[in-house]
Amino acid sequence: MTGSGSFAARIVRWQRSHGRNDLPWQGTRDPYRVWLSEVMLQQTQVATVREYYARFLRRYPDVSALATASEDEVFALWSGLGYYSRARNLHRCAREVVARFGGTFPGDAAALETLPGIGRSTAAAIASLCFAAREAILDGNVKRVLTRVLGFDADLAVAANERALWARAVELLPKRDLGEAMPRYTQGLMDLGATVCVPRKPACLLCPVQSMCVAQREARPEAFPVKTRKLKRTAQSLWLLHARRGDGAVWLQKRASEGVWAGLYCMPVFDDRGSLFEALGTTDVQEGPPFVHVLTHKDLHLHPVHALVRKAPGGEGAWFGAEAWPELGLPAPIRKLLLSTPLRGDA
Ligand code: SF4
Repeated sequence: MTGSGSFAARIVRWQRSHGRNDLPWQGTRDPYRVWLSEVMLQQTQVATVREYYARFLRRYPDVSALATASEDEVFALWSGLGYYSRARNLHRCAREVVARFGGTFPGDAAALETLPGIGRSTAAAIASLCFAAREAILDGNVKRVLTRVLGFDADLAVAANERALWARAVELLPKRDLGEAMPRYTQGLMDLGATVCVPRKPACLLCPVQSMCVAQREARPEAFPVKTRKLKRTAQSLWLLHARRGDGAVWLQKRASEGVWAGLYCMPVFDDRGSLFEALGTTDVQEGPPFVHVLTHKDLHLHPVHALVRKAPGGEGAWFGAEAWPELGLPAPIRKLLLSTPLRGDA
């Protein structure tokens, strides 16, 4: 596909005929819905977000409903999406929108950016999609598209270079008919990055900006974007005490608000095997096979230890029967463990 006109005009025209127009959070200018979808989409695939988005809207149809929920309820509904700091910020943000803005999202990006969990790109997405504000988004997909089109090969790990790219992104924004053009342009860039200008083997023949793309002309799209500094991965071993009573209830604790699985319900966690056995006071247990759970920057090596007990293992916590588990914010591997490990001697 070839195109003509400015970069923005091509993106707008392409979005109209070839962009994604049937996602559940499209066709609305309700900032609550757009914000909810943007936060969910930050680290999660569209197919998964569809399901959670619908579930959240059913339970919390507007920002006031979300603001009045408890953090535990929100975590429970978020359970399985991962990256729980997003759920915490989502809840805090809803409360601030109600407290500071009377339950109505502000329309300008600068004010949106003062809210928890809303960074510059998300603020720009909400402002441009809902209020047609002339603001540039720059999420991972858009960085890829713009660095390729511009042949921008400065290292984005350097903050000054990212600022420079942001300045270029602003220059490329539509200049007229903003009411229609801005929402379509923002959506079009997102769509192009998600469906055509993908990380590996981009479909340049279908691209509306092919004729102005430096990376395509130089036959090296995959060389962009340039980002050198990789976050160092770490590993951590944790021992999980799966203490269960005869009636099947499990002892769970609410985690502190910092660190791994912050604010979620979890079995008691220990840094080493010795501390677990010391706390439990018995070695009559069943040790499950260890498994690895991968977080963004960390591999967790989890060692479950199953124990049938008569009294609480100590420390803060409470017994929770199986009927209560669906309503708890549980980390994904813990939920899986609870549902999949019968204790020795179970009927
Ligand atoms: Fe991406 Fe290819 Fe389009 Fe350039 S021409 S923006 S590399 S899809």
